[in-house]
Amino acid sequence: MFRETVTHAGGDSKGTASESHVLMLLRRALNRGYRMEATRTGGASIRWTRVDLTTHTHVPRSITVEPELSLGDLDLATRTLLARIDVGDARYVAHPDRYVIAFEDAEIAPAETARLRTRRLVAVDARGRVRLTMAARLSLLAHDHRQAGGGADGFAMCACGFTVSAPTGQAADDVLSNHRQTVTASFVGSIDASYAAAISSTR
Ligand SMILES: [Zn+2]
Repeated sequence: MFRETVTHAGGDSKGTASESHVLMLLRRALNRGYRMEATRTGGASIRWTRVDLTTHTHVPRSITVEPELSLGDLDLATRTLLARIDVGDARYVAHPDRYVIAFEDAEIAPAETARLRTRRLVAVDARGRVRLTMAARLSLLAHDHRQAGGGADGFAMCACGFTVSAPTGQAADDVLSNHRQTVTASFVGSIDASYAAAISSTR
């Protein structure tokens, strides 16, 4: 589950959101061309403006979602395991003496398997297939596109290798921010029907 904060005319309202609700929010934001950005803690923020019909001004609106169980910062070992699971053939296997996430030719140690599950980084469907949660996918995406260099001189660099040279540090930050919005939007656009179905069938 996620914590959801909606900013509207009367202030903020807070609630909880399921994984499938988060996917719906992100897909709707994509369809409407709203700005959205994944967070390294496994959440996302969605921002847009709305025209106030009485004052004819643009009013900012936002929805943010964050996992109820904070992911913290994923270390390299965890990110490597998640990338391997994301390939798609991982299964949850109950041996007589241990529960593991298994691939065709290898398995993740029981303690690691338990840790991935209790941190809600992976989910298991009724047929034993293991998938990454939305929170894990958002966190990996944000990690892949974290700011990796640059500063006040107008040069900035994304961890993916995208570089910006702009007149000011602020202008460089803005370009980098637009880049993160673009990659988040394209991630949301790439979520396929089978992943969406897996989310809605997760208990
Ligand atoms: Zn990037």
